[in-house]
Parts: sequence; structure tokens; C-alpha cells
Amino acid sequence: LATKAEELGVEIYPGFAATEVLYNDEGAVIGVATGDMGIEKNGEPGPNYTRGMELLGKYVLIGEGVRGSLAKQLIAKFDLSKDREPQKFGIGIKELWQVKPENHRPGLVQHSFGWPLGMKTGGGSFLYHLEDNLVAVGFVVHLNYKNPYLYPFEEFQRFKTHPAIRPTFEGGKRLSYGARAITEGGYQSVPKLSFPGGALIGCSAGLVNVPRIKGSHNAVLSGMLAAEKIAAAIVSGRSHDEVTEIENEWRKGDIGKDLKRVRNVKPLWSKFGTALGVALGGFDMWTNTLFGFSVFGTLKHGKSDAESLEPASQHKPIAYPKPDGVLTFDRLSSVFLSNTNHEEDQPVHLQVKDMNLQKSSEHDIYAGPSTRYCPAGVYEWVEKDGKDVFVINAQNCVHCKTCDIKDPNQNINWVPPQGGEGPVYPNM
Ligand code: SF4
Repeated sequence: LATKAEELGVEIYPGFAATEVLYNDEGAVIGVATGDMGIEKNGEPGPNYTRGMELLGKYVLIGEGVRGSLAKQLIAKFDLSKDREPQKFGIGIKELWQVKPENHRPGLVQHSFGWPLGMKTGGGSFLYHLEDNLVAVGFVVHLNYKNPYLYPFEEFQRFKTHPAIRPTFEGGKRLSYGARAITEGGYQSVPKLSFPGGALIGCSAGLVNVPRIKGSHNAVLSGMLAAEKIAAAIVSGRSHDEVTEIENEWRKGDIGKDLKRVRNVKPLWSKFGTALGVALGGFDMWTNTLFGFSVFGTLKHGKSDAESLEPASQHKPIAYPKPDGVLTFDRLSSVFLSNTNHEEDQPVHLQVKDMNLQKSSEHDIYAGPSTRYCPAGVYEWVEKDGKDVFVINAQNCVHCKTCDIKDPNQNINWVPPQGGEGPVYPNM
């Protein structure tokens, strides 16, 4: 798509992260600025320091994917989530394997719910047999889990040991690893899309159809809708105003219809657990699709994922088996396969707002869930001179955004590192 866009005259700037929203005097968005390069770890400009650049437009569309750092600012500034349910998320962890030809069945798609998660924690797996003996396997854990001892990466590793799954990978080789949060709030959580000077599109808006585990169709449609409305606005001489047509029309169109039919699946799953919740969700999709109504109306999600976490004192630690290095692995050897790269001499891009709160709450009350929910092993609590110190191995970050979402105090803010750094997923 990048090549096709460039053939049409679109300019693409890979390697530059947009770090700032630019506003005019009336408060409308007029562009974005890329980050300064060459700032050293101490925050001071180094010898390679280069100022970022401003990119200005008549309208600005924000499509940063899940939990975008600029989208987060815009949602707060323009109160775009007013009267909406909180956005919900899952963490998806994935591996790509080359399996033995006799274990490969091209086109086979398998999904599962539950195991090894208990019936009260939402999540499930996907397994896709691709071409050339490749198999993509992944596991999604809904981030409204309550037990701070839950360890999504280890749940995924354990999933592969199930007797129905293990044989696929026997004699195979793991090629790649990656992780990313997924929006799951759906119809009732989509923020207002338009704001003065632009709109949210794609997963910045949160358009994933959860039961279909699919969002790219709606992401493309949201870009097309925004492009049509903005092109018409520009033709009629408008700029930097709010294109309310985008917000007013998406719910009536294909995206709205797609998400409305499945709007109760996630809340039913959260409320009634995997066995009953998924069955009720199936029934609800059936009545919505066939008769256009739901006996449940539109259910609420309630708490945010951060608020869902409960104190460690209410839960027991979970014992996970050790990795065997053949079928199951540890996080650091996994991160190695994600081709993650960050220049070490730069400010840490995972900003902890209040370190005292991190110790008194994240560590003392919640037993350090960041050391488990992060799929890249970025966070550690280490004892140093008799004190517990929060260590951030920022260079390992695979940009999944889970910490920004799940920290119980919303005390961690993910911002883009300099340049286009992060994981490189050539075949994922
Ligand atoms: S530090 Fe945060 S964004 Fe980075 S990999 Fe860990 S949880 Fe994901």
C-alpha cells in the first residue's frame, strides 16, 4: 500500500515519529511535529542533535494504532470519550514458526477460548497455517484481568503445551516474536471521531470487531470515510474546522453496522466468564444479525482495564512451568527475535510520573504486575542497598502499549522514542 500511495504522490516519512500535536490560536489542530533527534539520556542535546520538523495540513487525521500517544492527548483535550464507555484492550502475543511439512496443513485456521486461562479471565488463541510451512500462533489475554500475578506471556507459552497444539510444533523452529495491544471496547467505547482540525481513524478510534478478531477492514473504511468527507470540505473552501460529518455518519455506515451487531460479546464475556459469556454472546450476535435487535440492549463495560486489577492480597501467585527452550521460551530470547532496537543514549520513553506511587502502590499493593504483563521484560523490581528499585529496560520495549493501559494508577506514560525505533516485524 505504501508503494501505491507514493505512486499517487503521497509523501511517507519512515523513521520519524510524530511526538507533538500543533494547534492554531483558536485551538484547532493544524499539524504534528516530529521529535527532536540526538537528545542524550540526560535530556540534553548531543553532538547529533537535530530539531524535529513541523508537518502542517488543512486537516489532520490521526491513525497511530492502538493507544496512540497523540490520540490519547487529543481524546483528553477535546473530551472525545465523554458519554462513552471506557475503551477496553487485550494483549496479543504472537510467534511465527517454520514447522515440519508433515505437520503443516495450508489454510487451516484454529481458534480457542479459555485454557490455560481460568474460566473467569477472558482470552483465547489463534493458529494459522500459512504458506511455505509457516504457522502463526498467538494468544490474546483480555486486559481486564483481576489477578496481578497473571502473566500473559507465560499463559501463551503454556498454551503451546496443550496436547492438541504441541504436535504442530514438534521438530519446528521459531522464527519471530511480537506483541501488541488490541482495542476491544467496540461500538460503545469508540470516542467521538471528529475534533477541530481533524479526526481519529483506525485503531486510534478502536474499531476492532472482537469476535472476528479483526480490525483492518474497519480501519481502511474509516480512512476512506474521513478522506471523502475531508476532500469535500476542502473543495468547498473549508479548513481547520470540525468535519462533524465523519462523526455523524460512521455509525450509520458499514463500520457502525459491523460493530453494533457484536457490541455485547465483550461485556457478556467479562460479566459471565468464558463458558456462559461466550454462549450468551453467540446468542446475542444471532438475534442481532437475524432480527436486528438484542435482548440485552447495549451493555456497559464498567471499569477501565487499569481499574479492574485487584490488590495482590486478594489473589495467590501462579506457578508457571520453566521454559524448555524448544517449544516454550523466556522473554529475553523472544525479544531478540522481535528485532527490537533502540539507541541507548536517549531519554527513557516510558515515563513514570511518580516513582513514590510506583513503590507504594504498584509494588507494595499490587506486587509489581508490570514485571509480568510486559511481554518484553522491560520492568523489574530490583533490591539495591536494601531498597526496592524500579528498573526500566527501555531498549527491550516492543511498543505494545500494555503498560500505558494496565498500570493500576495510570502512572506510566508511553511516548515515542526518537526516530523510527522499536520492533521490526518483517514477516509477522
Ligand atoms: S514497556 Fe510497555 S509498551 Fe513496551 S513492551 Fe513493555 S508493556 Fe509493552
